[in-house]
Amino acid sequence: MNQQDPYLLTPGPLTTSATVKQAMLHDWGSWDDDFNAMTAEVCRRLLDVAGGADSHVCVPVQGSGTFAVEATLGTLIAPQSRTLVLMNGAYGQRIGKILDTLGRAYVAIDKGDYRPPRGHEVAQALAANPDIGQVVVVHCETSSGILNPIGEIAEVCRQAGVRLIIDSMSAFGALPVNVAELPCAALVSSANKCFEGVPGFGFAIVERELLAASAGQCHSLSLDLHDQWQYMTKSGQWRYTPPTHVVAAFLQAMKEHAAEGGVDGRLARYTRNRDRLVAGLRALGFRTLLVDEWLSPIITTFLSPHSPAFDFGRFYNAIKAQGFLIYPGKLTVADSFRVGCIGQLHDEQIDAVISAVAAACQELGLSLPVAAPAETPDNLETA
Ligand SMILES: *Cc1c(COP(=O)(O)O)cnc(C)c1O
Repeated sequence: MNQQDPYLLTPGPLTTSATVKQAMLHDWGSWDDDFNAMTAEVCRRLLDVAGGADSHVCVPVQGSGTFAVEATLGTLIAPQSRTLVLMNGAYGQRIGKILDTLGRAYVAIDKGDYRPPRGHEVAQALAANPDIGQVVVVHCETSSGILNPIGEIAEVCRQAGVRLIIDSMSAFGALPVNVAELPCAALVSSANKCFEGVPGFGFAIVERELLAASAGQCHSLSLDLHDQWQYMTKSGQWRYTPPTHVVAAFLQAMKEHAAEGGVDGRLARYTRNRDRLVAGLRALGFRTLLVDEWLSPIITTFLSPHSPAFDFGRFYNAIKAQGFLIYPGKLTVADSFRVGCIGQLHDEQIDAVISAVAAACQELGLSLPVAAPAETPDNLETA
């Protein structure tokens, strides 16, 4: 690894391996068979990880993850269809904003900043709105780090005969999903999260029949997943210039994912990172926003200590000076900061970040253990 670069505890972009970076030291022709074979292998591997090889197809799309979410919603949701959006943070809110922009009608269950949407609530909303065609949910809501209960939500959707679309951006690759068994009509993710590639494209794993029935529905030319799929099926190529180096890096990242033991191996390392991080920061007096039951192995929100000496900007810079970048919080209810567990991070880096936080506290003049936050959100005991 290049130790000159700070470690990114920000999911993502995140810290990638040296070999993933090295995979980008070549140039590829976007029409050439060598590049097309890489795209095909990436899609085949992604379908396998998702358990969708017999029922689904994988369609990559240029851009960041949000482009892939917008492409999926715009392509699959018929203009006159209504959607139920489950919100508990910034990414669920963004799904609503996309549907607003597309002019697609929706109802929302908004649980605020960090409460999980539960199956029985979804069942009630579907019973009250029998015209709903699909439910959209975020798997790991990265703005708080909460892991939403997609299993119980999928079961309710299955019973009601409603399609489920999952933004699994920050979870796919580390949390087990099987799109055929859930079932899930479409799952969206991107290159720079749990597979540990570099940013540049996202992808959707979509039920083949649903995608085939979605021709001409998309509001956008460049985000039309059906068109991208058709073109790729015929020619093996992306429509419009592909992010060639990003695809090469992603294929290398997928090989490293498989070598680590696939989803199970990655989940084990991220869980270990999370447990080590949470134990270490709790020992320094910090509190997590969520009770353990809802903590994801992706990113954890910590409440800012109750002290006039705590200033996030200074805290961030003191940690950065020791080689780590953390994330500001994204809550409306409490001051907080977030630390990611994903990317090329192992015990050594987690221990070093805990030491960096302790040193930063001392630099800011906070005594250890730090004081508990003034107000704790009311879900701390009950989620
Ligand atoms: C990262 C992420 C996205 C996509 O964000 P981009 O900045 O567009 O890559 C969407 N949803 C979730 C849950 C995410 O974590």
